[in-house]
Amino acid sequence: MPTPDDLAPLAADMTAWRRDFHRHPELGFEETRTAGIVADLLRGWGIAVETGIGETGVVGTLTGTRGPGGNRAIGLRADMDALAMPEMTGAPYASTTPNTMHACGHDGHTAMLLGAARWLAMNRDRFGGTVQFIFQPAEESRGGAARMVKDGLFDRFPVDAVYGMHNLPGLPLGSVAVPKGAVLASSDTWEVRFRGAGVHGARPHLGTDAPLAAAQFIAALPMIVAREIDPLQAAVLSVGHMAAGAPNAPNVIPSEVFLCGTARAFTEAVRAHLEARIAQVAHGIAATCRLRAEPRYIRRISPTINRAEQAAVALRAARAAVGDARAMDDHPPLTPGEDFSDFLAERPGAYVWLGTGDPAHPEGFHHNPHFDFNDAALAHGAAFWCALVEQELA
Ligand SMILES: [Zn+2]
Ligand SMILES: [Zn+2]
Repeated sequence: MPTPDDLAPLAADMTAWRRDFHRHPELGFEETRTAGIVADLLRGWGIAVETGIGETGVVGTLTGTRGPGGNRAIGLRADMDALAMPEMTGAPYASTTPNTMHACGHDGHTAMLLGAARWLAMNRDRFGGTVQFIFQPAEESRGGAARMVKDGLFDRFPVDAVYGMHNLPGLPLGSVAVPKGAVLASSDTWEVRFRGAGVHGARPHLGTDAPLAAAQFIAALPMIVAREIDPLQAAVLSVGHMAAGAPNAPNVIPSEVFLCGTARAFTEAVRAHLEARIAQVAHGIAATCRLRAEPRYIRRISPTINRAEQAAVALRAARAAVGDARAMDDHPPLTPGEDFSDFLAERPGAYVWLGTGDPAHPEGFHHNPHFDFNDAALAHGAAFWCALVEQELA
């Protein structure tokens, strides 16, 4: 089975690709430069390439030559997009694009999948069946996975199972952790508009008080989480934005308050409870305050849940690639969201964490302006991909 030592000869290439992507980050659905480089490299290694799947997505298809060859196929997915935020790493390869940064390590994910593709293209006699290398655009809340699925991803590039990998700085360098069940949460947006009868701030009894309703609503959100969700389950409701009135009109009770925020859950039941209760609580408080509530709940990303069978497959590959000591058979769920769940809705699969070894940030520090992918982990991640292919397409 391929190990990080086998992939080490490609480490310098992967590092160069990674730093080039880092220097030239692109936002979701704008990854034209990144996708172009990915497609050119894959083609250069004799891998069949299709572009423009889900706008800027790329799929490479490679069939092994070992044995009689099988019909089996697996998909390996990397995301390519960056975030709209300024970079403060001071790295020599820091972003040259203003307010755009690879702060989630997708530059590393793309480089690792390229490294695996290169190695497998050179070693296609070591496996039968087909690998689909899925380079996804727009993972960061822009719906890239759904767009690829809508473009017929799995009809045009059939797979029996699909796998995803994300860096996690809090785990030891080169480790691979395979969560059992829930990996990442649903990520939805809720909005509530309280509409009252605005009035002079000195004569509140002549109108209705939308800001007071909003205050009660915010205070009630933790009640939903703390008193209606099983303490052994998890949920998050946070307010992210509110708007009302004007700073130069402190003597006016505004007629409208708008609030919005995020909702997270690991099961569809908890998610549905949050959705229903946000609306009920908003309407209840509106009735108490003699005004109107207009709640809206926007389902964006479903929970990412590993299938038991594919999690076991991934764990076996992790053990073979990075060794028993660095392969972990579980990891607690985390509350961010990941649209890899849109792939898991279509095909069975699993999602793993690659440890990139930053003990200073045990919880990780993705989306931080100082974030930088640790290039020392590239060979480990690529080795995991190659071991998974060799094992599943033996
Ligand atoms: Zn991210
Ligand atoms: Zn990410």
